Amino acid sequence: MPVERLMPTEESADLIALTRDIVDRELRPRVDEAERSATFPREVFRTLGRAGLLGLPYPESFGGGGQPYEVYLQVVEEIASAWASVGVGTSVHALSCFGLFTAGTAEQKHEWLPDMLGGELLGAYCLSEAHAGSDPAAMRTRAVRHGDEYVIDGAKAWTTHGGQADFYKVMARTSDDGGRGISCFLVPADTPGLVADNPEDKMGLMGSTTATMLFDGVRVPVERRLGEEGQGLSIALAGLDSGRLGIAAVATGVAQGALDVAVRYAKERETFGKAIIDHQGLAFVLADMAAAVESARATYLAAARLKDAGRPFGRQASIAKLVATDNAMKVTTDAVQVLGGAGYTKDFPVERYMREVKVMQIFEGTNQIQRLVISRDLAR
Ligand SMILES: Cc1cc2nc3c(=O)[nH]c(=O)nc-3n(C[C@H](O)[C@H](O)[C@H](O)COP(=O)(O)OP(=O)(O)OC[C@H]3O[C@@H](n4cnc5c(N)ncnc54)[C@H](O)[C@@H]3O)c2cc1C
Repeated sequence: MPVERLMPTEESADLIALTRDIVDRELRPRVDEAERSATFPREVFRTLGRAGLLGLPYPESFGGGGQPYEVYLQVVEEIASAWASVGVGTSVHALSCFGLFTAGTAEQKHEWLPDMLGGELLGAYCLSEAHAGSDPAAMRTRAVRHGDEYVIDGAKAWTTHGGQADFYKVMARTSDDGGRGISCFLVPADTPGLVADNPEDKMGLMGSTTATMLFDGVRVPVERRLGEEGQGLSIALAGLDSGRLGIAAVATGVAQGALDVAVRYAKERETFGKAIIDHQGLAFVLADMAAAVESARATYLAAARLKDAGRPFGRQASIAKLVATDNAMKVTTDAVQVLGGAGYTKDFPVERYMREVKVMQIFEGTNQIQRLVISRDLAR
């Protein structure tokens, strides 16, 4: 059953219909094989881009879709309900464009944003390093200015789309002044000295390539710095507030996918002479799963509406990410339980959903870090 959504406009309802059509035609037929063979679905991102679904939350004047976050996130959720890796990729692409949109000069935006939002180019976001994940201010990758260019040396770990992206939004150290010594750069993939290490061998999201990006004397013109020197960490963290909403929507989509499989199975599978959904003990598991999915959706939408209204939403974004990913972990684990032994096999997608959701409690700030953000805001 498709999720019943109350969309704010007719145009946004059409967008959901378009997304469902693309998901059914282009994503569902490919997901199993790509996830099994760890193949990055570049052509799927091109299809989404050409349909206008990769730049939805950005203004139409820059080639985006001009949609509020409330709408964009529901599109992401629909994508993720069929294919988590593509949902994550859609959210990461939006995050990669965020710094240029918020901190770029008018010239920078006019020159680069239309291509980035138009769908042909795919982005990546390089903040983490091997020893600096939860604490990005500890980063060591350096950008040293020589005249009209910076030379970047170092390594950015865990880059989603590493080696696949067309541009990298890179945070690098321009002085030793802790978090205030970091600057933000937009680096094209074909810049000499920039290479991807071997992809990580992960427990899930196999269709989403994750790799360390190695910077060896990478020369970047000064015009490719976004914002002033020293503003990089605040640009990166501001982007993460929005990115966390994207991850909340992705987690909710995967949880919805798991719930759908579980309900379908529970109506067909019989034990003790009746469908397992007619055993109250099992039906209540399904009821709790549905409650968890719907409350996650309501939580991310409430945060998105604050953002759309121009109000502060950082605490609510962290709450949405925490609630949606923890709920999704529980829902996908319960989905495996509902299917019994079958749930533990690769004949059904629920074991994959469970593996995929785990990382959502970890990236874009672990759920411990979300609690830190929430509690610090409460203590202000
Ligand atoms: C598949 C995948 C894709 C990713 N994609 C990207 C990407 O595209 N770009 C990018 O920049 N990064 C990316 N990351 C990195 C990700 O954001 C980090 O892994 C994450 O922020 C955690 O950092 P860490 O792994 O270094 O863990 P650590 O920071 O070492 O944390 C280890 C544990 O300690 C806990 N912890 C740390 N500090 C505290 C504290 N103060 N209080 C309580 N608990 C604490 C953490 O919650 C965690 O449980 C990705 C990671 C993965 C696995």
